[in-house]
Amino acid sequence: MGGALLKDNVVEVRVLMGEVRLVEHWRRPAYTVKSVLLLAILVAAGFFGNYFAPGLFTGFNFLFGSIPVLLAVHIFGVRWGFVAGLVASSWTIVLFGHPYAMVWLCCEPLFVGWLLSKSRLRNIFLCDALYWPLLGAPLIWIFFQYVMHVSILGTIAAMLMYWVIGITNALIASLLLTYLPRLSTAGEQETQRSIPIHLLIFNLLMAIVVFPSVIVMILNGKDAEQRHLDEMLGSIDDSSRIALYETKLKLQKQQAVLSELMHLSEQLEVKASGEQFNHLQMAVELLQKSYADFQAIYVGDVNGNSIARFPSRDKHGRSIIRMDYSDREYFKVLKETHSPVISNMLVTRGAPAIPGVVIAMPILSNGSLQGYAAASVKTDVFSDILMKARINPQHLLTLVDGTGKVIASTNNALAPLDTFASCAKGTMTRVTSGSIYRCMPNQTALMPLWQRAQKSSYILTSPLANETSWSISVETPFAPYQRLLFKEHIKSLLTVLSLNMLALVTSLSITRRLTAPLRRLSQVTTDLPDRLLHENVKAWPKSRVTEIDQLIDNFRVMSAALRQKFQEITQVNENLELRVEERTKEITLANEELQREIAERKLTERQRDYLTDELVSHVQFLQTLINTMPNPVYYKDLAGRYQGCNRAFEECLGISRLEIVGKSVNDLFPPTMAWEYDKSDQELFKRPGVQVCESQMHFADGQPHAVIFYKATYQDIQGQTAGLVGTIVDISERKKAETERDHLMVELKQKNKELEGIVYVASHDLRSPLVNVQGFSRKLGKSCSDLIKIMADLEMDEATRAMVESIASENIPKALKYITGSVEKMDGLLSGLLRLSRLGRAAICFDTIDMNSILAKIVASMAYQIETAGARVEVGQLGPCLADGEQVTQIFSNLLDNAIKYRSPERPLFVKVSSEEFPEGIRYCVEDNGIGIPRDQQDKIWEVFQRLNPYETQGEGLGLTLARRIVDRLGGSIWVESEIGIECRFYVVLPKPYVPD
Ligand code: ADP
Repeated sequence: MGGALLKDNVVEVRVLMGEVRLVEHWRRPAYTVKSVLLLAILVAAGFFGNYFAPGLFTGFNFLFGSIPVLLAVHIFGVRWGFVAGLVASSWTIVLFGHPYAMVWLCCEPLFVGWLLSKSRLRNIFLCDALYWPLLGAPLIWIFFQYVMHVSILGTIAAMLMYWVIGITNALIASLLLTYLPRLSTAGEQETQRSIPIHLLIFNLLMAIVVFPSVIVMILNGKDAEQRHLDEMLGSIDDSSRIALYETKLKLQKQQAVLSELMHLSEQLEVKASGEQFNHLQMAVELLQKSYADFQAIYVGDVNGNSIARFPSRDKHGRSIIRMDYSDREYFKVLKETHSPVISNMLVTRGAPAIPGVVIAMPILSNGSLQGYAAASVKTDVFSDILMKARINPQHLLTLVDGTGKVIASTNNALAPLDTFASCAKGTMTRVTSGSIYRCMPNQTALMPLWQRAQKSSYILTSPLANETSWSISVETPFAPYQRLLFKEHIKSLLTVLSLNMLALVTSLSITRRLTAPLRRLSQVTTDLPDRLLHENVKAWPKSRVTEIDQLIDNFRVMSAALRQKFQEITQVNENLELRVEERTKEITLANEELQREIAERKLTERQRDYLTDELVSHVQFLQTLINTMPNPVYYKDLAGRYQGCNRAFEECLGISRLEIVGKSVNDLFPPTMAWEYDKSDQELFKRPGVQVCESQMHFADGQPHAVIFYKATYQDIQGQTAGLVGTIVDISERKKAETERDHLMVELKQKNKELEGIVYVASHDLRSPLVNVQGFSRKLGKSCSDLIKIMADLEMDEATRAMVESIASENIPKALKYITGSVEKMDGLLSGLLRLSRLGRAAICFDTIDMNSILAKIVASMAYQIETAGARVEVGQLGPCLADGEQVTQIFSNLLDNAIKYRSPERPLFVKVSSEEFPEGIRYCVEDNGIGIPRDQQDKIWEVFQRLNPYETQGEGLGLTLARRIVDRLGGSIWVESEIGIECRFYVVLPKPYVPD
């Protein structure tokens, strides 16, 4: 977790139930030099922690390897932790002689790493404390019991020992991580990570309990081991000493007994025979009977031949008194040294031949050897001594002679004469400064230290005395002591474990109790400002610890003060927000206004630009326009300087615009003309407006031209007269044409007069023949009636009568009717023509006409027609005009008459008369909803005798002709606008009466 390898680790802060905890995720580590170095160091430390594992007691070693391994798990994750565990535990194969320890030692980092990554447990010690009971201890049990077949006690002891060592190491690792936080960050310069207080307290409490208890346990274990060893060695020593003493005493006693025989033999002389011999034999027999240790007693001569002996006969009853012992080693020594000899093991001669030892005493006379007294001693004697000498029944005492043959032994496996070999299948190592050795069985494949120690024994071999090469070997097996030690270790291990478990539970509980108020406090104070704003924090924790309680109290007071301040701030804030909101609104409004203004300004700018462009194009257009104008055009400022002109003006003067612009008339024209022009200009400036004046001007052709100056002032932007624009119309041609026209007009008038006269005369003169035709037609009609009457009285055939009657009553009257009609028509036409011609000659009497009274009179005169037609005539307020009253009456009478005549049968007629004033004159409108006039016929109706519906209504087709003639003569105009079938509007424009200012 964390660390140099984990540079891109994410430290995520999760809030669980209000508790803030750091959750660090493993990520793919970053292999920096530092981190790789740290990992290598940890792996190596793990190995050497096991390599230099100090021996504790009874074959136990304190394996420190799991400390760096657990650190590797914590820092580099389960994968590298497992690798470190593998390397570290590999040494245990050599150390313990079996590979099984690797299993539980490798499972430890796997389990701890897995638990760290999967659970919420962040405490490596707690993880390890779970590992041992759940997995570690059961694994040890399985391997020790079912694979290595170790005794139950040994198994339990080992299980507990590894457990204790494991959790002690985990605690050390946890403490290192807690107090050396830079270790977990591999020495990177990082912000110091905070350590949870419960972890600090928990680790500390555990350390206070675990370390002393483990130390005490180790010391106690070592002490117990030493005590037991000392005790064991002491008992060996004791057994040995007792055995030595007893054996020596026995030998001395036997020698003493034998020395009596020796003295007796000295007195009797060994060579004696006969009675003396009998005495000797008797003494031997007596001695043998009185002292049961001896199997056989005999006295020999200087040559080694026995001369007295008991038993004296073998099992066959043959005398065995005389036997040759000269070949015996003890005799040779005795003969040579003249000293008492205790032989090595031998098989006695005589009956029965059994293994034994011989004690021989020299029989000396004046320093020379006479013979010897000897006794073979039963080995049982020594067996008894050895049996009794045992302090501990487990001690195996063996009396060995100088050649290494067993004389006697408490070990049932050893019989007399067996060759004694101490630690035959093992290695002897000296245990103390004394001569006690430990015999360890030789290492065989997969033989754990346990089994070797179990099969080991302690051996003390002590020489008997100077006169003999015998020795006593005391051997005791280690197994019983090992069992005792195991029991003791199990007791202390259980105590330590119980203590640790108790400490664990107590620490957890204390930590919880101590830190719960703090945690609660931290929960309560998390986002305190925010919470204070939204809720009233009441759930303050309580603690029995005065300082914490004080701290909580301080927080409570502080939060109350904060809450009050917050409320004030909130209030102020709200006010501020309101003000800000208002201000924002104002600013927004102002902004919008500004935006609008900007938009408007932009629009204005755009418009200005557009207008400028327009203006430019307009100016260009105007320049082009005035250039294209055929008449000379110029413009001047108030000072009379030419500001510009058109091409026609240039051509007219025969100079370029550049030569004209900025000049005045004095520069361009002869003085008399210039004076005249300037004068009229000045008049115009005095009375701004339009000026039209005729003058003469010399053009570039050098000819004087009659011209008309059309001038008009123009204004600047302030409305002040800024100059004038003038155009010159060359009227030389027109003047000529006008003169011609005037001439023609005079001619025309004359002709017209003549024509009117002709028309008048014709129409007037044509009437008399017409009257004649009329009169004679009536006469003819009367004649026909007379003829019919006459015919009635005349005799004629019926056919003729019928024919004549038909002619007289039908054909002629019918013809007469046509003639009369045509004559009447002709008469009408002639009177019309007469009227027309009279009109041309009638004088016009202009006057201001009150049109309202004129129309009132007309309507009154037509009341009958109006009523008959069922028409409604509406006459609005009409403005006056300047005209001839009689002729105007004729016009409007005709228009109203037409409206009634040409009404629509589909709707009641409505006629409206209105007027509207214009600067040019006054316009009257006679409007009806009659049949209307087709658009293509609207020009025809003004022609003489033109009628659109000649057979439907009466009329001559002269009314409108006359009306137009009158209007023309009055200086006005008349026209029609109509929509067929809907309406018809006749407009009459007449001059307005002159109104003086
Ligand atoms: P007249 O009325 O005697 O026929 P006018 O000269 O007065 O002669 O009219 C010429 C023709 O114009 C008429 O025959 C008629 O067809 C048409 N006309 C004149 N006034 C109207 C009107 N108000 N509605 C429809 N047609 C009209």
